[in-house]
Amino acid sequence: MSATILDGKAFAATVRAKVADHVARLKSEHGITPGLAVVLVGEDPASQVYVRSKGKQTKEAGMASFEHRLPADTSEEALLRMVDQLNKDPGVHGILVQLPLPKHLDSDLVINSIDPAKDVDGFHISNVGLLGTGQRSMVPCTPLGCLMLLRDHHGSLSGMEAVVIGRSNIVGKPMAQLLLNDSCTVTICHSRTKDLKETVRRGDIVVAAVGRPEMVPGDWIKPGATVIDVGINRIPDGDKTRLVGDCDFDSCAEVAGAITPVPGGVGPMTIACLLANTVTACCRANGLPEPEGLTA
Ligand code: NAD
Repeated sequence: MSATILDGKAFAATVRAKVADHVARLKSEHGITPGLAVVLVGEDPASQVYVRSKGKQTKEAGMASFEHRLPADTSEEALLRMVDQLNKDPGVHGILVQLPLPKHLDSDLVINSIDPAKDVDGFHISNVGLLGTGQRSMVPCTPLGCLMLLRDHHGSLSGMEAVVIGRSNIVGKPMAQLLLNDSCTVTICHSRTKDLKETVRRGDIVVAAVGRPEMVPGDWIKPGATVIDVGINRIPDGDKTRLVGDCDFDSCAEVAGAITPVPGGVGPMTIACLLANTVTACCRANGLPEPEGLTA
């Protein structure tokens, strides 16, 4: 293996420390405690783990955490009412409705009912538009975490060829937009892309966000490229399971200049960026300067 490992776990700890530091200052200098409300509808086991983890890390950063757990058969009206209450609550600076929602609920409608200033997931249509036009917005957490890792490793990304594999609204598209805003030449690949291998090989930066275990082999990677593996896939391993990314780590690490591992790469950055977005939202709501280096 020759690639530098981009240690997302360690980097996320520095982001959380910056957030905690800023929260402490907001409290001592302004008497303000940033608050994050997380709404979970139903009992999806993975979502329950994420929500628990988000609540724990929010409190550890010194912020107020409000968890709202609603039954799986909650009506759309009841959920919209809850979001409306949180929109009006001055102690809540960030609102996150955990996705996926049960099928009878319209996710777009619910997400677009969140006050865009409190939309710490960055999924509200206003934030998507602001990001797309290069204006100040709330930036989706996972792509923001990837961007922070890339900026930390490279400094400027200007002029680099970036290839994003995956065009989802939560990862692929905002990632591509962030790279474009940082003056990369960006290509987005997806399930219909012809000659994926040749396209991916153009990338000085490759971000894989597909959800297919170890799909990208080392011979798709341009020598020296930086590989950001967003994928989280559970595969059988004897009588247990283990987590792997969308890239075949061993063969990619032979060729790449730098690579994120799975686990311990992009994953820990996501919640760290959620905390960063909450403190940013709190500062904006109170007309105070934002912490440096915690947003795009
Ligand atoms: P998604 O299913 O919404 O989107 C997957 C994308 O991959 C689609 O745009 C599709 O066109 C593309 N795709 C599918 N098959 C392909 C193929 N053969 N070749 C090229 N492109 C193909 O998934 P998502 O929500 O964007 O998540 C992607 C992965 O990232 C998943 O493994 C998910 O678990 C992981 N993820 C991780 C984090 C984190 O915190 N690290 C956060 C979100 C998602």
